[in-house]
Amino acid sequence: MAELFYDDDADLSIIQGRKVAVIGYGSQGHAHALSLRDSGVDVRVGLPEGSKSKAKAEEQGLRVVTPSEAAAEADVIMLLVPDPIQAKVYEESIKDNLKDGDALFFGHGLNIRYGFIKPPSNVDVAMVAPKGPGHLVRRQYEEGRGVPCIAAVEQDASGNGFALALSYAKGIGGTRAGVIKTTFTEETETDLFGEQAVLCGGTAALVKAGFETLTEAGYQPEIAYFECLHELKLIVDLMYEGGLEKMRWSISETAEWGDYVTGPRIITDQTKAEMKKVLAEIQDGTFAKNWMDEYHGGLKKYNEYKSQDESSLLETTGKELRKLMSWVDDEA
Ligand code: NDP
Ligand code: MG
Ligand code: MG
Repeated sequence: MAELFYDDDADLSIIQGRKVAVIGYGSQGHAHALSLRDSGVDVRVGLPEGSKSKAKAEEQGLRVVTPSEAAAEADVIMLLVPDPIQAKVYEESIKDNLKDGDALFFGHGLNIRYGFIKPPSNVDVAMVAPKGPGHLVRRQYEEGRGVPCIAAVEQDASGNGFALALSYAKGIGGTRAGVIKTTFTEETETDLFGEQAVLCGGTAALVKAGFETLTEAGYQPEIAYFECLHELKLIVDLMYEGGLEKMRWSISETAEWGDYVTGPRIITDQTKAEMKKVLAEIQDGTFAKNWMDEYHGGLKKYNEYKSQDESSLLETTGKELRKLMSWVDDEA
């Protein structure tokens, strides 16, 4: 059974006694910096000259310095810039500013797991990763709640790395909801697998294939859109609340029978065998290497895939239909 930690297990005074640098002020960065500050922590934000986020951070009352200055001042450095540029930011601004006893923190394990960043042995290396988007992390904190987090220590130079990670998690509201202990390896590999095979890749491919099957058979795109994309949310909400059981309790017996007999014809043994290959490529670093090559090679294929989907009938139909839906909402 996973180890769970709550408010009473975490000592906020640990992080309150440190100087924290949050590098980056995007989805996660703004949530961490603002909530730590509101938890009484000494925070500075690290952003390069000319950064688009700088004015926003300053408007919200935070002190913004360059990433190097932030790393030099602080003894806990949380790296919250996009994963593919973290190694560059580390090399240019953080590496030479690490001192004995500092802690290097991450919101995702990719750069440590695949060795793109190799911190020296005299610093703690830890992760506090909220299991939700940054804007939700901040909103929940402001409402007195929190988003569950996972925490891990890769390198425990101080011997107190996990207590520090829990204290940080408390500062952003994570221990209000619960913190699960994990490792960088488990977090990185399960996160990549989940988003590729199920949450993003698997779901998007399923929706597209279903929509295309109906429209190619001559049904109206608007009807196909409702069936294959719009209603998915209603089904997933039921699963989220009560697992497959609640979803099956709510749908008709006809739908439930179709679920049992047709589901395994769509997601077959072959699909699962492919999932195992996907997982193996995540574990052996092939996926991470290919993604870094794509990113640093100018995102050619990435942009191709993106524009293909943007101009698809599924997306153009949805765009028109959602306008209608917001009009209906406004009138209500
Ligand atoms: P974002 O893409 O939202 O971060 C963008 C921020 O990084 C902006 O403030 C940007 O500034 C800044 N930035 C860009 N380049 C630099 C640089 N060279 N030096 C300093 N700052 C820079 O990132 P996310 O919040 O999505 O992700 C951050 C980390 O959190 C990642 O490790 C990610 O895996 C993890 N994570 C993200 C989640 C999410 O909800 N998105 C969920 C859980 C984990 P500018 O405005 O100038 O472009
Ligand atoms: Mg991810
Ligand atoms: Mg139906």
